[in-house]
Amino acid sequence: MKSHYRVVVIGGGVVGSSVLYHLARFGWTDVVMLERSVLTAGSSWHAAGGIHALNADPNMAQLQAYTIDLLSEIEKESGQDIGLHMTGGLTLAGTPERWEWLQSAYRTFQSIGIDDCHLMTPEEAKAACPVMSTDGILGALWADREGYIDTTGTVHAYATAARKRGAEYYEHTKVEALTQTRDGWEVRTDKGTITCAHVVNAGGLWAKQVGRMAGIELPVSPLKHHYLISDTIPELESLDFEVPMTVDLEGFTYMRQDQKGLLLGIYEVEHEHWAMDGAPWDYGMELFQEQTDRIEKELILGFERYPALQHTGVKTWVNGAFTFSPDGNPLVGPVPGKRGYWCACAVMAGFLQGGGVGKSLAEWMIHGEAEADTWSMDVARYGRFAENRDYIRQTTGQFYSRRFVMSYPNEQLPAGRPLKRAPAYSDMSAAGCRWGQSWDLEVPLYFAPAPDFVENLTLKRSNAHDIVAAECRAVREAVGLLDISGFSRFEVSGPAAAAWLDRMMASKLPAPGRAKLAPMLTPSGRLQGDLTVFNWGPDSNGNATWWIMGSYYLRAWHMRWFNDHLIDGVQIRDLGEETCGFSLSGPRSKAVIDTLVEGGVSLPFMGCAALDVGLIRAHVARMSVTGEHGYEINCRYGDHITLRRMLLEAGASEGIREVGFNALLSLRLEKSFGIWTREFTQGYTAAQTGMDRWIDWDKDFIGRAAALEERDGNGPAKRIVTLQLGDGDADPIGYEPVWQNGEMVGFVTSGGYGHTVGKSLAMAMVNVDVAAEGTDLMVHVVGVERAARVIAPSPYDPSGQAMRG
Ligand SMILES: Cc1cc2nc3c(=O)[nH]c(=O)nc-3n(C[C@H](O)[C@H](O)[C@H](O)COP(=O)(O)OP(=O)(O)OC[C@H]3O[C@@H](n4cnc5c(N)ncnc54)[C@H](O)[C@@H]3O)c2cc1C
Repeated sequence: MKSHYRVVVIGGGVVGSSVLYHLARFGWTDVVMLERSVLTAGSSWHAAGGIHALNADPNMAQLQAYTIDLLSEIEKESGQDIGLHMTGGLTLAGTPERWEWLQSAYRTFQSIGIDDCHLMTPEEAKAACPVMSTDGILGALWADREGYIDTTGTVHAYATAARKRGAEYYEHTKVEALTQTRDGWEVRTDKGTITCAHVVNAGGLWAKQVGRMAGIELPVSPLKHHYLISDTIPELESLDFEVPMTVDLEGFTYMRQDQKGLLLGIYEVEHEHWAMDGAPWDYGMELFQEQTDRIEKELILGFERYPALQHTGVKTWVNGAFTFSPDGNPLVGPVPGKRGYWCACAVMAGFLQGGGVGKSLAEWMIHGEAEADTWSMDVARYGRFAENRDYIRQTTGQFYSRRFVMSYPNEQLPAGRPLKRAPAYSDMSAAGCRWGQSWDLEVPLYFAPAPDFVENLTLKRSNAHDIVAAECRAVREAVGLLDISGFSRFEVSGPAAAAWLDRMMASKLPAPGRAKLAPMLTPSGRLQGDLTVFNWGPDSNGNATWWIMGSYYLRAWHMRWFNDHLIDGVQIRDLGEETCGFSLSGPRSKAVIDTLVEGGVSLPFMGCAALDVGLIRAHVARMSVTGEHGYEINCRYGDHITLRRMLLEAGASEGIREVGFNALLSLRLEKSFGIWTREFTQGYTAAQTGMDRWIDWDKDFIGRAAALEERDGNGPAKRIVTLQLGDGDADPIGYEPVWQNGEMVGFVTSGGYGHTVGKSLAMAMVNVDVAAEGTDLMVHVVGVERAARVIAPSPYDPSGQAMRG
């Protein structure tokens, strides 16, 4: 072992080995992986080895697809047998709702590139898996690229292939301490000290402690997990094929063949955390005693689904632990504020996601950004609030228990909530507010007229549809009041603030007293933000006071980017714990705010100023996301309750109504205004999304060269359009495939019902040759084919008169 490496990867499980392999493959060979015991000695040795192509999160599905492709490659490259059995896979639907969901999910999978799957009748599923009882099964989804591998062989294959490419790894070498230095990290091990520029936490069950070595509290916890392997089953002996990997969602089990027996794994409804502070250091390759009482309900369902298990013995019980983040996705990427400290942990399904995690992390470390959209697994998708132990316990437990439970797009889950509440929360709740969650914050969805109103869970339109319609009407015809505490706000100050902002944002900076929409790009020309920059005018030193506003849940993600690019003479402060506000929008909004501001408000469209609004000193901007004349009124946290009361009183004679984000989402869709994670993601370029219209090509900014190349080349192959759908009882929500003459030409980025235009609407990323207005297309919505037509953007008020006037 040398005393210096470019990278030290801590942990020799499947994830660390994949990171090591990808670093070496992409050209960084001065890298070492340290394993305190032997390779696989964490969760990896006793995993069930199942590989699934299906994942409802398109970014995770892509990671999985990449990993599955890679498996045979590393087997060949390393010469190590990985025991790959590509049996195909079945996902079963046991209720009408689940069957409807599965048919819808099948279309979503198609739109994200998983095209080797198809729906099956129960009889077809039975023929594919004869040991299964199809009692209660309404249908199934077959996927070709599912099966299982030998877990130990796979980890050794990654590590051996990495070594062949020049990387090193050492077993029985425990990392005991980490110290940040000027140039990187000092890694103290029980075999001596190493220095390096980068460390990677791939500590698996010990990731929490490896985080704490650098003062980091990662939102991760191990949970226990059971599977059993049966003795030989005569029915299997008589088959001349292996039965497919089968997931019984209503039964909470997954099953695969293991030699001539079955392996039955259980997602336990009564989950059990283990070692929330990380596994003990002396924890070896051990298993826990099986806890059959705790999993009795799922076992009974499993034995009914596979009746042979009722008269076959159990050869092996495995009760082991593996790690979860609050949303079940991995924690990957650079940890904010810890230069050179990277995460590759909380990987729940290391054998099907580890390849993609290793690839993305290695690209990120070497090139500064990954090829794939990494948002769903970025460690910076969480803020400090997620360090809390009870938050981690509740959210990881909820994810685990609900892993196979049917979920609905309009469902609100309780774990870790309510956490942060804007000051007017109680008053708004008393007024009927129903809440959703953005990051740590409760955000209003809609206001129920009756206290006993219960929204039904559905894949289609819910019984809150008419309530949202009324809120939209209030905004279009009178004035709506929306709590906008759920926006992020950053203050940028210092003598170099303007120069720094000018380089960070691709748009022109606003003049004093004005705000401007500002795309922010990465060096490869992809989006890093759909922001608004405010120039509030000079402070007492004559320097302009700047704000950046964006999506609340991106606060830590954006702050990491800002800090990584900070220069001398600039200070940036996240105002998210001290500033909140309300927006007023609708034709009567001016009348409302005018009664509270001496002399009335005379801001132009996109103008902004610090104003006294009644008793409150506020930062007011004339803008709206609804497409109406509107104002965003930002105040101190302590003023929130008073601001709401003043605005409601002032608006009473103007027909003011409190509205929530469900109405805003419908209203913005009628204006074809995109939003982050839907129309705007780090996977798309400015030209694909139309954000390029805000670019100032005459200045220098991050990503300019790539954006210019796209502009002056052939342009993007895909772009965002607005679709109007034919009648139906459901609206698209995102990732539904878009077809022309049976060929998939794109997918929906977001959709909903336009209550003013009275139509189901969608925005979609489609091939440019079908993007022309008037093109007839088809869209699958909840599994049903619906006619759709490309329409001009902004079906409501296309000239923008209502908003600008
Ligand atoms: C019962 C069960 C069934 C499963 N089935 C599947 C499945 O079918 N498919 C699937 O994809 N996944 C499955 N999993 C999950 C899978 O096991 C994990 O996702 C995967 O093993 C995680 O790999 P890892 O490399 O992140 O962590 P680990 O395997 O825990 O590896 C971390 C390594 O880091 C080492 N380490 C930690 N700290 C230090 C230190 N300070 N110094 C040096 N070394 C250190 C440890 O010794 C360990 O070897 C299952 C898990 C369980 C428990």
